[in-house]
Amino acid sequence: MELSEMEFQKRNPRIEIIQAINDKNLAWCLNKTAEIHGHFYPGSALGVMASVWGLGQLGNGSMHSDGMENLMAVVEINACFADGIQVVSGCTLGNNALVYRDLGRLAVTFAIRGKETGVRVRVRPDFRSCIVKLVPEFYPLLKKVIMDREGGLEEETAFKEKGREAAFAVIERPFEELLIAEEVSPELPEYAPITESVCARHGT
Ligand SMILES: [Zn+2]
Repeated sequence: MELSEMEFQKRNPRIEIIQAINDKNLAWCLNKTAEIHGHFYPGSALGVMASVWGLGQLGNGSMHSDGMENLMAVVEINACFADGIQVVSGCTLGNNALVYRDLGRLAVTFAIRGKETGVRVRVRPDFRSCIVKLVPEFYPLLKKVIMDREGGLEEETAFKEKGREAAFAVIERPFEELLIAEEVSPELPEYAPITESVCARHGT
């Protein structure tokens, strides 16, 4: 008997994302990220790129993360970037596979428990110059609307539009232009403690 699409999805909840990672379909991943993040911004685009590239280097097994803490992501910033990682890698706050280290760096390490090496992907320090070339209006609007809080409604709308434009332009660039990947020996925390609460650790 052939499974219906819904039944298939129920058995393989990450099937579409795995397909998108394998196809390097970054636009699809970026759209998925915006579903939880709420807007498009170069930071989430970089998180998507870092995940697709990093998981590709970690190997096929990493993409089949089932949220049971086999694949771990250690993220070094709590910004848009982190949501690209949660969506694409499936390592989230809720399944304990996401570790947040408050270092303020646009970087993430992917690792599989039991394996000695993982992959750390960081954003190149000069990534802004790439965005400036792609969408020159983006940073002046960011300064006015977000930093100086001086933008009117028109500028706010323009900022959102340019943020979206920049996000979709960034994912068209080669990974190497924006990111650096290196093999690392990551330090992972122990498994999260098991508690009695329902699904706090999948136990019940
Ligand atoms: Zn954002």
